[in-house]
Amino acid sequence: MKFYKDLSPSLRTIMTPGPVEVDPRVLRAMSYPILGQFDPEFTDLMNETMEMLREVFQTNNQWAYPIDGTSRSGIEAVLVSIIEPGDKVLVPIYGRFGHLLVEISERCGAEVVMLEREWGTVFTPQEIIDAIRREKPIIVAMVHGETSTGCIQPFDGIGAACREVDALLVVDAVATIGGVPVKTDAWQLDAVIGGTQKCLSVPSGMSPVTYNERIEAKVLRRKTIERGLREKGASLSGVKPVASNYFDLGMLQDYWSPKRLNHHTEATSMLYALREGLRLVLQEGLEVRFKRHKSHEAALVAGLKAMGLTLYGNPDCKLPVVTCILIPDGLDGESVRSMLLNTFGIEIASSFGPLKGQIWRIGTMGFSCNQKNVLHVLGALEAVLLWHRADVNVGKALQAALHQYAHAEEEQPC
Ligand SMILES: *Cc1c(COP(=O)(O)O)cnc(C)c1O
Repeated sequence: MKFYKDLSPSLRTIMTPGPVEVDPRVLRAMSYPILGQFDPEFTDLMNETMEMLREVFQTNNQWAYPIDGTSRSGIEAVLVSIIEPGDKVLVPIYGRFGHLLVEISERCGAEVVMLEREWGTVFTPQEIIDAIRREKPIIVAMVHGETSTGCIQPFDGIGAACREVDALLVVDAVATIGGVPVKTDAWQLDAVIGGTQKCLSVPSGMSPVTYNERIEAKVLRRKTIERGLREKGASLSGVKPVASNYFDLGMLQDYWSPKRLNHHTEATSMLYALREGLRLVLQEGLEVRFKRHKSHEAALVAGLKAMGLTLYGNPDCKLPVVTCILIPDGLDGESVRSMLLNTFGIEIASSFGPLKGQIWRIGTMGFSCNQKNVLHVLGALEAVLLWHRADVNVGKALQAALHQYAHAEEEQPC
């Protein structure tokens, strides 16, 4: 028989846009004993998780619960539950994850209208508002923070414009939730999808979502039509049942409601992890946490610039939790990344599509977003770039970051 060694993953410094390092308290939570899915102790944990999600999503929505699966499971659950074949879905795209919204919407039979913007920039809210008024879509689906380009889309007035034409606004906040303000109610977002392995710093495997009565009305209307027809023995052709059982929000919310109608078996250990992760987020406090993400971003950016590197993307719309760097001409970006990993145990990311080989991406998310990691990545990157004979300003990066930290402390003692 083949001999398999003990599982013993290396301790890494993970500075990617996810998955990121996880607080040991969250890892510990995952090792607790299993409870049955209808054990009152467990359903209490489910309810507390919903309460905490409402706070993190900044909403009074009744529905705020995790979908079991990675972040795209949350996106898919929302879209497959609300899109009926033929519905017009407007998707503003400024990076890779906009295309994911298109791909899923098309599979649901939507008539997709794309609005495209050069990568590295975002839309002005007015451009999107004009498109909403012109197209009068049933649904607008868009990304809040694009991890592929390190850009963040402002939402001013977009929610209101959707209400004017009675469109539902669905937002992928996978990369931003827990790291950057996401104001579900204030921005009039109808459905918001979050991720665990980014700024919430919980392992990959769940996707918290929230949605309001406008979304619920569409989900339930479909459910009623389907059930009515089935009971009458009528044919379902012509009506459009939700094409997924696993991702049907109508069934999922019955499971997360006091009815506890059996659907899937809730992922016990992941729920423990999410509850502990959310507890830590709220214990730190949302505002303090957002400020922490900004302050480590500032130190990282100061260090990279002092080294002589150039950032990618329009600085006016920079996503605070992802910093993109142009790979200097003539340098093998992948060779730099593998030396960082193999020699220093540090992981940074490359990018996708048109940006592959063009930029590196450094995440400052959640538990990975700390002074030790920022200084560690700057020092190691300088050494690796010098090893690759790149032209960098020697000895400047860490000093600039240290100055930034010293300065930040004077400004805001917290
Ligand atoms: C990471 C990410 C996703 C996909 O998440 P998975 O967990 O890999 O399914 C979707 N949207 C955005 C903006 C992301 O950053």
